[in-house]
Order: sequence, then C-alpha cells, then structure tokens
Amino acid sequence: MIIMDSTATKEEIANVVKEIKKFGLKADVSRGEFRTVIGLIGDERKADFSRFATLPGVKEAFMVETPYKLISRDYGRRFNGGGESRLIRVGEVTIGGDDLVIIAGPCTVESKSQLFRIAEKVKKAGAHILRGGVFKPRSSVHSFQGLGANGRNEAEEALRWLHEAGQKFGMPVVTEVRGEAQVDLVAGYADIIQIGARNMYNQDLLASVARTGKPILFKRHFGAGIDEFLSFAEYMAAEGNKDIILCERGILPVGKGKNYTRYTFDLSAIPAIQKETYLPIIADPSHATGRQDLVFNMSCAAVAAGACGLMIEAHYNPSEALIDGMQMVTPEELKEIISACRKIHKLVAQKHRAKVLTG
Ligand code: PEP
Ligand code: MN
Repeated sequence: MIIMDSTATKEEIANVVKEIKKFGLKADVSRGEFRTVIGLIGDERKADFSRFATLPGVKEAFMVETPYKLISRDYGRRFNGGGESRLIRVGEVTIGGDDLVIIAGPCTVESKSQLFRIAEKVKKAGAHILRGGVFKPRSSVHSFQGLGANGRNEAEEALRWLHEAGQKFGMPVVTEVRGEAQVDLVAGYADIIQIGARNMYNQDLLASVARTGKPILFKRHFGAGIDEFLSFAEYMAAEGNKDIILCERGILPVGKGKNYTRYTFDLSAIPAIQKETYLPIIADPSHATGRQDLVFNMSCAAVAAGACGLMIEAHYNPSEALIDGMQMVTPEELKEIISACRKIHKLVAQKHRAKVLTG
C-alpha cells in the first residue's frame, strides 16, 4: 500500500504506478477526498517498498498482508479517509443505502408469460429488482437446466424477456452467468450479473464478469469461509470493479440424518462481513432454507442481522414452477415479508450503521 502526500501531483501518482508495474504488479489507485492511496495488486513480496518510499510525492509505503485489502473497510478507513458503506446504484435503485432492497422473481425464466406475470406481481408486492435464471446451475444433468441450455437463440430470447419485463415494470434485472462463454451475452441484457454459489471460486469467470463493468451479485459458496468469500470478491475489485453485492445464501448443514433445511443460513456472517468490508451484503432466505414456510421468519432474521437487501424467489403458483417450487413464496406472502422487513430494517439500520462505522 502506498499513501501519497496530500500535495502529490498527477504525474507523481502516475510515476508510482509505473514503478509498481516494473515489479510485475498492478496498481489500484483510489483518490480520496484528502489523499490518494495506491493498493498493490499481486504478490507484494516481489516489490521493494524502501524504493517506493523514496519516490516523489510518496508519504508512506508498506506491505499489507490482508488478502482482501481493496475491499477492506478497515484499510479504507485508516488510509483513505473512507471505509464507508458502498452505495451501488442500478437504475433508480440504490443498494446499501437507507432503504431495504428487495430482489424477487422466479428461480428460472420458463416462458414469457410466466415471467411477465410474476414480474407484475412482485412489483406490486414492493420488489425493486427482478430476478430470473436463464443459465441454471443444477446438481443433475437430467434436470431442467434453464432455457439457456437450449442454445444461443433461446438463451437470448429469454434474456430479452427479462430485460423487457424489467423495462415494463420498472425494475432493473439480475440473472446468473454460469460460464465465461456467456458473459458478453448476459451483460448485454442484465443490469446486475449474478455469480452463483457454485462459481464463487471460478476466478477466471470472476475476472471476466468484473471487466464488463456491470454491478455483480456475488453469492457465497456453501463451503466457503468468510475469509475465502471476501478474498474471491477481491479478484473482482482487482479488475477495477467494486460494484459487488455480496450475498449470504446458506452453508452446508452439519450432522447425519434429516437436516430440515436445504442449507444452514449463516446469519452471523452478515454483520461479521459488514465489519470487514464496505461492500453491501444481502441475504437469500429462499435457497438457504429451501422451504417456503420458513422464508418469512428467516427474511426477518436476515434483516435483523443487518442485511441491506433480500433475494426471494416468488411465483404466482409455486407448485407450477419447474425448479425450486418448494421454496417459492406467493406475491401475497412476499408483500407481507416486505412490510415486516421494512420495519425491522428501519429499527436496525441506524444503530447498526453507527456501530459498523465506529468499528
Ligand atoms: C440462484 O440464485 O438462482 C441460485 C442457483 O442460487 P445459489 O447459487 O445460491 O445456489
Ligand atoms: Mn432457485
């Protein structure tokens, strides 16, 4: 990490960046209100910090061990006068701000009429962002893989419906990209690109999604520790894209026998992550529980834990859904969840924010 003098010139900053590159590293320049801080991306042990310290305009140069310094709240706060929660703006919606953000929609886009019907209903229920999978990660090759599996034309058609539904009902849209080959296609239609739990470790996909410059909804792998989750988010930040919305969606349950929930909702990860990073974190009670009858309570719990948004699967007739019908709520239930969670968010948000910022 290199901290520049408050009087450092553009040329001096550019010169430091040039010197960093000589060691085979990249530079992340962040211009704060009071000073510029340059993060080194790559193996800092290769660099000569005593040399950086002597360059014109440099105030301090030192090695940072944290694997996720670019997204660290602490580093932002200590060296950049920042560390404040990042607001991510998508159309009219702000994620990480004062209002709880609700992402809702079907697990999977099945047809134009299914999607439009759901979009209209979730909007009326109070959702801000529409979700819908086109490329679905599935455990079995024999299950429905989403319309994306039927070739590029059908994939593009489904993505177009999503985009049109978003336009028609005034909601930005989010959909998952499963592999690098789909990134450009998905980026052409989605307002937010989702990286699913199973791809959390796919660093080439992460980098390629980050390079689209679109906001990213990044889901925690069900076996990943918090440290790992944030370290992989850092891959995207290192590509210059810090519009990353983190999502807690449940980790693997423990023990033998019946587990009663699809995953274990790791709610304490939410405030823990908020202390570590300035990136916003939302929660997905649908995949975490796999149970429609638990979604209300666990939505409330996630918001109480500090989540700044929720992603909830919803359908006008859950039993009709080809995938994940057992965890989908109806638009009426969604409305009740939103109303309860808004109240909880108001109660928690102010106190919580003050706590996060004072460390
Ligand atoms: C999803 O949100 O559609 C999904 C498949 O979730 P996850 O990646 O968390 O399993
Ligand atoms: Mn699903």
